[in-house]
Amino acid sequence: MKITLLGTGTSTGIPTIGVNKESCFSDDPRDNRLRSSILVEFKNKNIVVDCGPDFRQQMLRTNTTKVDAILFTHEHADHTAGLDDVRPISFKHGKIPIYAHERVIRNLKKRFDYLFDKKNDYPGSPHIYPKIIKNKKFNIEEIEILPITYMHHKLQVYGFRINNFAYVTDLKIITEKEFNKLKDLDVLILNSLRHNEHYSHINLSQALNHIEELKPKMAYLTHIAPDMGLHSETEKILPNSVFLGYDGLEIIIED
Ligand SMILES: [Zn+2]
Ligand SMILES: [Zn+2]
Repeated sequence: MKITLLGTGTSTGIPTIGVNKESCFSDDPRDNRLRSSILVEFKNKNIVVDCGPDFRQQMLRTNTTKVDAILFTHEHADHTAGLDDVRPISFKHGKIPIYAHERVIRNLKKRFDYLFDKKNDYPGSPHIYPKIIKNKKFNIEEIEILPITYMHHKLQVYGFRINNFAYVTDLKIITEKEFNKLKDLDVLILNSLRHNEHYSHINLSQALNHIEELKPKMAYLTHIAPDMGLHSETEKILPNSVFLGYDGLEIIIED
């Protein structure tokens, strides 16, 4: 399985418009962060988790021309606003299934009504079809996916586990039962917004506490805000086997 971090920034990306933090002016390409998303390449399938406003750029810079499925964690714009840009992919390879909570599908139908309008099917629209997921295992052909449900302030969000890999973003509160689904991982990607407390995201110390308890072989932090500071400074204070993610990072997990 190969995982590519397509974006590792918080909702505003880094640099952020009008923000004068050091990370926004850094020459280190690792400080340049598009909105959070990953590509999972496994069993000849390309699965993208979230499709934010930088989706087009993310596909171009990783040279990804085919997407077999999109999984949505939740409906916030930084995770969904790029949905229209699946057009050239669906023109070439056909309809793309989008997997999400029923609430998220309803929200997308409101915001992107033309994408779901079968009657007035405009030929230039992207071709997608919804697949509602619940908090139980589902399959994309041979790939088994286990959702993990948790809270992001008052909003429910899904994380996803595939074998010994899990992607958890926009987490604030998780029950013990759901947390236990994240045990025995080779790789965990977890959100970690900044150093200070935040109402809807865990911060760095809370992320490190979760990692300490779960003990994945390796952990990567994502959904990073400008106040986290420079990549090169933050990585110095991380424990062994915990890394700050950056855009374009590729992680290989042996089957
Ligand atoms: Zn987000
Ligand atoms: Zn969010």
